[in-house]
Amino acid sequence: MSAAPLEVAEIFRRYSGAYEQQIGRFSAAEQRVVHDITSCRTADLGGHLYVCDQCGVITERFNSCRNRHCPKCQKLERERWLEKRQQELLPVPYFHLVFTVPHQLNPLFLTDPKTLYNLLFRASADTLLTIAEDPKYLGAKIGFLAILHSWGQRLDLHPHLHVIVPGGGLSSDRQQWIASSRDFFLPVKVLSRVFRGKFLDEVKKMARESQPIFPSRLDPRDQPGAYQNWLDELYAAPWVVYSKPPFGGAKRGLQYLARYTHRVAISENRLLRIENDRVVFEWKDYRDDSKVKPMSLDAVEFLRRFLMHVLPSGFHRIRYYGLFANRHRAANLELCRQALGVAEESPEPEIVANDEASETETWEARMLRLTGIDPMRCLA
Ligand SMILES: [Zn+2]
Ligand SMILES: [Zn+2]
Repeated sequence: MSAAPLEVAEIFRRYSGAYEQQIGRFSAAEQRVVHDITSCRTADLGGHLYVCDQCGVITERFNSCRNRHCPKCQKLERERWLEKRQQELLPVPYFHLVFTVPHQLNPLFLTDPKTLYNLLFRASADTLLTIAEDPKYLGAKIGFLAILHSWGQRLDLHPHLHVIVPGGGLSSDRQQWIASSRDFFLPVKVLSRVFRGKFLDEVKKMARESQPIFPSRLDPRDQPGAYQNWLDELYAAPWVVYSKPPFGGAKRGLQYLARYTHRVAISENRLLRIENDRVVFEWKDYRDDSKVKPMSLDAVEFLRRFLMHVLPSGFHRIRYYGLFANRHRAANLELCRQALGVAEESPEPEIVANDEASETETWEARMLRLTGIDPMRCLA
């Protein structure tokens, strides 16, 4: 009989003690995650009796923790979320954009994750809304949703936002639908430049206000030289915004979206084994023809990386902007449908779909060639 598949819970059970000895005590938020993951679907969380309505057999089922960082609990949450989104789709092509930041910013993300992740959302959203509304480009008010991912394939820190946006928006009087071109949304060079400007303007403002987002070696007051060099490097580094051509129709779009929304830093099917206090897991090497390779990390280091992706409690990982901002979403969607001349809740007409497999291939290959970074590497 083969051994039970390795779970993140098991790694925590075996190495939490070693982690706290070597790295330090878990924060309150981390403690919560460790507790939930290790007790998920065990007797610790209690259970309920389940009676099969076909054969009457009674089985005991343990309760799930429903923590958003628990690898076991994402599927159900995703289904619930998608069901609600079903009514919000518009019968137009949707674009997928990814906003990435240079790795030089990682020390700030580690020092003050909440402020930096908020800034990443704000700078990306402002950029999109501004450029879309500019008559030189689309000249429309748009709406979109943004999803934060913080990881790369090796559980390293790689903060980026996935943005899903309908290809078009409302005119300034909100009476007409202004469609974007079918295979081009907004110029990524302009988006990248404006995004960099907005992001770094805020970083500089926080430096002037002495906000505690800097690690001591980059502190603008104590290390002005190091800070300035770092800032210069950031202006010179590539700030890359990707834009993927539209994916299929509304239904396919929703399935596509589901790949991004409810994820944790690693899915458990990538875990292979524990050997000699090291965790062995699979990762995809996009620089080597996307080959799947085993990677081995010291178990404590594995836990450290996993916990690096625990978000501040109450932090919203999926956010809505512009026309889709929470308060006015229903009313604005109604305006969009009227402008598009479609009845309420009829997002069915299928947009001609691109060949998804080859399209994905080309897009990823192109991004890789341009930047050496693969925006899909967050996917399992
Ligand atoms: Zn769970
Ligand atoms: Zn991602």
